[in-house]
Amino acid sequence: MDTDTTLAWVRAVTAAVSAHTDLLTQLDAAIGDADHGTNLQRGFTAVATALESSSFDTPGEVLTKTGTTLISTVGGASGPLYGAVFRAMGKRLAGEASVTPQDLAEALRAGLEAVQKLGAAQPGDKTLIDAYAPALEAFEDAVRNGGDLPGAARAAAGSAEEGMRATVPMVARKGRASYLGPRSQGHQDPGATSTSLIFGALAETVSR
Ligand code: ADP
Ligand code: MG
Repeated sequence: MDTDTTLAWVRAVTAAVSAHTDLLTQLDAAIGDADHGTNLQRGFTAVATALESSSFDTPGEVLTKTGTTLISTVGGASGPLYGAVFRAMGKRLAGEASVTPQDLAEALRAGLEAVQKLGAAQPGDKTLIDAYAPALEAFEDAVRNGGDLPGAARAAAGSAEEGMRATVPMVARKGRASYLGPRSQGHQDPGATSTSLIFGALAETVSR
């Protein structure tokens, strides 16, 4: 994956978030405060502007800029959380002009570690981790078995979507939804849904 492909991935995330802003907000209306769609829409619109107005030499620089922009423009929990993911990925890839599937697996792993360090959520807590962790495992498995980037990214996207759906029966133990206790059951987690969009955008971009 080179710098242009990384830019294309982040732009594809911006497009997917724009296309699903209402869905993300409706999901958050059910178990949160109805702002997840607008939070990410604001954040990724600012990211798109930031990416237009600078030039980038490496994938890592693109991801770091994405992360710092999300942190400075999104008020909700998801800004710092996704900001931490993209910044950790950028840091892990620093300086490499071209990223192998193995490098990307390690960067995605660093992103998961960063978001768990910040938010302290475990699998099963009904958060974005429930889409991210299975997606990462599928990506790592595919790479370990010699899969190429499009194959690994498609496997990850499929597992993210399954993980997203698996949040429906969960009781939230982190974030605003946890205030509802058992009443959070029966609703799909907004953050797991946006994480599924992010992995879907990766698969779409690298399969082109
Ligand atoms: P806020 O909760 O501040 O309104 P958003 O609505 O933008 O922020 O994001 C809510 C999403 O953030 C949740 O659906 C959940 O997936 C994710 N989230 C909340 N807290 C955590 C956490 N501690 N760790 C991981 N993800 C979390
Ligand atoms: Mg919210």
